[in-house]
Amino acid sequence: MKKSILAFMAICIFSIHANAQKTKQETGKVTPESLESWVPVPIISAGSTNTDAPSDAIVLFNGKDVSAFQKLDGSPVKWKLDADGSLTDVKGAGDLYTKKAFGNCQLHVEFRTPAIVKNSGQARGNSGVYLMGKYEIQVLDSYDNVTYSNGQAAAVYKQYAPLVNASRKPGEWQSYDIIFTAPVFKDNGELSSPGRVTVLHNGVLVQNNVSILGPTDYSAIPVYKKHDSKLPLYFQDHGDDGNPISYRNIWIREL
Ligand code: MG
Repeated sequence: MKKSILAFMAICIFSIHANAQKTKQETGKVTPESLESWVPVPIISAGSTNTDAPSDAIVLFNGKDVSAFQKLDGSPVKWKLDADGSLTDVKGAGDLYTKKAFGNCQLHVEFRTPAIVKNSGQARGNSGVYLMGKYEIQVLDSYDNVTYSNGQAAAVYKQYAPLVNASRKPGEWQSYDIIFTAPVFKDNGELSSPGRVTVLHNGVLVQNNVSILGPTDYSAIPVYKKHDSKLPLYFQDHGDDGNPISYRNIWIREL
């Protein structure tokens, strides 16, 4: 019954669309109908409810299972999986790489900087979301913690400071919602279009479709170098004290 209704609706939509096109073609005039685009029909997604991932997302971490991740060398992750559904960095455990490669995407990440504050500046709750393993959205405890603006939480590291500091207190869960467009390269290796990124930090817009200058570099001007259209992303193990960052509820939608 349900399928037959859907089929009937699809026929109706196709018919209306065909008529609209016909109207435009026959008259050569722009009409309200000729400006309507009925196909393709966007797939149905219920969207996110509470902390659940949208139905069409790839869940990378659901609080129980780290099988979507590995270390750079392909060995099992050494981060600590806690009973509360969080995955916490262990000093020196290595970056947390996705097994799957991604390019254009919408990425949702929840993170928590350590409740017990150690150190200051870049040594306090430092991690990062490395899109394509190359372009870092900084994760840092930036609650009452001064550092360079383009290195604080939600910065495109050493490229763009966030529009505002939306950081919550140490020990509180926070979120990033990241919309990323991968850079495109010509066959000869030249950059065709730079990467772009939009970031919401705790629901607040902090990066508004900024043009990424190149791969994140700590000590040099970033320079693009041709790479695949999809690459694994990773979560940074900063490798020093004061940074046992936790993550939970990580999902991604390929665009
Ligand atoms: Mg970092």
